[in-house]
Amino acid sequence: MAQSSFAVGTAAAAPGQKATGFLEVPAGVDAATSIPVVVVRGAKPGPVLALVSGAHGTEYASIIALEQLIQSLDPAQVSGTVILLPLVNIQSFAQKVPHVNPVDGKSMNRFYPGKADGTQTERASWLITKQVVERADYLIDYHGGDLDENLRPYAYWPKTGNPKQDAVTRDLVLAFGLDHIIVWSDRPKDPNASRYLDNTANTRGKPAIAVEAGYSGTVEPGDVAALVNGTLSAMRYLKMLPGTATMTEHPVWFGKIDTVTSEQAGVFYPLVARGTYVEQGMRIGYVTDYFGKTIYEARAPASGVVLYICGVPSMKKGDTVANVGEITNQP
Ligand SMILES: [Zn+2]
Repeated sequence: MAQSSFAVGTAAAAPGQKATGFLEVPAGVDAATSIPVVVVRGAKPGPVLALVSGAHGTEYASIIALEQLIQSLDPAQVSGTVILLPLVNIQSFAQKVPHVNPVDGKSMNRFYPGKADGTQTERASWLITKQVVERADYLIDYHGGDLDENLRPYAYWPKTGNPKQDAVTRDLVLAFGLDHIIVWSDRPKDPNASRYLDNTANTRGKPAIAVEAGYSGTVEPGDVAALVNGTLSAMRYLKMLPGTATMTEHPVWFGKIDTVTSEQAGVFYPLVARGTYVEQGMRIGYVTDYFGKTIYEARAPASGVVLYICGVPSMKKGDTVANVGEITNQP
């Protein structure tokens, strides 16, 4: 069966080819931007898988993982098509601004499905929804601890309530191999208010997961390898690469995430490392005023695993101190 060329933005690849180009986000109420895109068109037919990183441009390990996959994916070995967006938020990356797109101050993973006439983040999200999500069969969104987040690797299993789709995403997340998994069930159900990228795919009936590795501006080889190897295993599960997926056999599931926020502004000192198991009530960090007097003690609201903890001394009132995942045996 003959396959035709596949184009995303200006990247058009014929079967057996890899093409690079840009998703051109036109100027609107603010500046235009160009999002790099790669299409790996496999020699053999198969599904379309979208891999997206860098919505938060300083979550570097996830960006470098996709840069490696751009180099290493061989179209001759691939069945189907892989769309790679290694860096959605170029302005964040270039200017080293965490969390948001500095052009409009918005997180680039909170405004999906986007708006054609919105600010740059909304216009980019709209284009990604139209050009990438709507044309993909599966999607993986890559994140990590941002510049100020000391994070241990984990993945999300988005539970939609649709048993067939949930079975696929459960397998996909187990195939990916990150063995700490958040069960995320209270997500927006409306495809027109999907908010997050992976949820934009899931609310359109396309199985999608999100994965996180890396922390505090680092590019640790182990974090990058976990994301690269996880992707290859997920592609084997989807039969897009030869070989068998390695499925996580005994993951730690989290049924609830508790966010601890600071009640005071000042200087933050952590008392536990990322990944630490804490008991309810344990001190996990504290905030002093600028003269060294303790003004706030952060305690674990429940027993669980510190998925991330603030990695820098800067602390404003209401900022996140840590996320604690409560373990469940019934995902
Ligand atoms: Zn992120």
